[in-house]
Amino acid sequence: MSQSPTANQPLTLVVYDDNGQSLGPQSLPPVVKSETEWRAELTADEFRVGRQHGTERAFTGAYHATKTPGLYRCAGCGTALFAAQAKFDSGTGWPSFFAPVAKENVATDRDDRFGVSRTEVHCRRCGNHLGHVFPDGPPPTGERYCINSVSLRFVPLGAKS
Ligand code: FE
Repeated sequence: MSQSPTANQPLTLVVYDDNGQSLGPQSLPPVVKSETEWRAELTADEFRVGRQHGTERAFTGAYHATKTPGLYRCAGCGTALFAAQAKFDSGTGWPSFFAPVAKENVATDRDDRFGVSRTEVHCRRCGNHLGHVFPDGPPPTGERYCINSVSLRFVPLGAKS
């Protein structure tokens, strides 16, 4: 299911404008950068979490309590990842969503670190580590995408890009 962003073939991703409207599936090249390039582009926290599989401390991120309508894009490449309509208060201290805005835009990997089997979630276009998905979320999906704020960039509804 996961596709390595180092493979250079185009990906079919669903593109959204900043009003959260789908512009439909488009064929786009993966975003591939060296570690040096990512370090230069991202903040230290964005790099540590997004490129080194880190985790921000609970209740410290910018978006854990955000309820504003809008779209959450990838901090690495701008791909639309989650809509505010799918956000819910999980009580965990991390932004939580019951679904991605488009299943095409995220990918998952098995993560067996720390002796626990979890499902890691990342941006399908650039590989930015987002968080994990758990099967204990609310309706309608029953899934809980537990996501680091620092891996996201929030675009409030109506903002012009
Ligand atoms: Fe990305």
